[in-house]
Amino acid sequence: PARPRRLPPWLKRPIPSSGGTYFTDSLVSELGLETICESARCPNRSECWTRRTATFMILGETCTRPCGFCAVKRGRPEAVAADEPDRVAEACARLGLRHVVITSVTRDDLPDGGADHFRRCILAVRERTGATVEVLTPDFDGRPECIDIVLRGKPDVFNHNIETVARLQQQVRRKSQYDVSLAVIRHVKQASPGTRTKSGLMLGLGETTEEILETLADLRAHGCDLLTMGQYLQPSPRHLPVVRYLPPEEFDRLGEIARSLGFADVASGPFVRSSYHADEMARNKAAT
Ligand code: SF4
Ligand code: SF4
Repeated sequence: PARPRRLPPWLKRPIPSSGGTYFTDSLVSELGLETICESARCPNRSECWTRRTATFMILGETCTRPCGFCAVKRGRPEAVAADEPDRVAEACARLGLRHVVITSVTRDDLPDGGADHFRRCILAVRERTGATVEVLTPDFDGRPECIDIVLRGKPDVFNHNIETVARLQQQVRRKSQYDVSLAVIRHVKQASPGTRTKSGLMLGLGETTEEILETLADLRAHGCDLLTMGQYLQPSPRHLPVVRYLPPEEFDRLGEIARSLGFADVASGPFVRSSYHADEMARNKAAT
């Protein structure tokens, strides 16, 4: 199909400016940290800030995988900073965060994929704040022993994005696989039934509605409790093009269907990102 050239009207929303109002760039950079909120200039910043939610990126800025939709740089990753968990906890305490999302690049170079660093970050935040903690992890190649290490930190929510439907995995994620992502969700739910499991999809990459519904059914069958669906936006001309902009009503309809499949909570809309309204979703009980 012809590629859409212009942003549809519902995506033309002013991007909030930086400069201290939100995640206080200066504090975050003073502590040598990075928030996805600021680095990706996320359009939801003012809303998330009001809700005292932020997403920290740990384990460096360089990824070992080459996904076609992602703006993170690739190459040889940095050494792991042993004091990063303390710095993340310090930022959370000083920002008065109530819900903290901790995510990372994929670190295929590390023997445990960075799992123990995730665990240490969760525990450090717990020690310093009363915030709920959500991890948004890479797939750890599906290795259960790595997932178990993260679970020892007892995250409130374990999020791992499947990103797209089965047919488009190779094109979109290249080195990551649909079945491996499903296996991650299943393992979390089996090993720690009380932990809320979560996953998400970007839409507009060329998937059909039928394929979306199959993916939702697969996620539910593997024990996924919470779901996010948002519009894919091309970060630069070098990244995968947008095939379609789904109108807000279509996101609403898909959200309804997802709820009817038994997800405990669903966020579906053009601006929805993995951590959008994450605090609210975290409070929802696991689906049964
Ligand atoms: Fe940050 Fe996520 Fe909120 Fe965007 S949606 S501002 S990345 S917490
Ligand atoms: Fe981006 Fe994650 Fe893919 Fe790395 S694995 S390129 S961080 S989406």
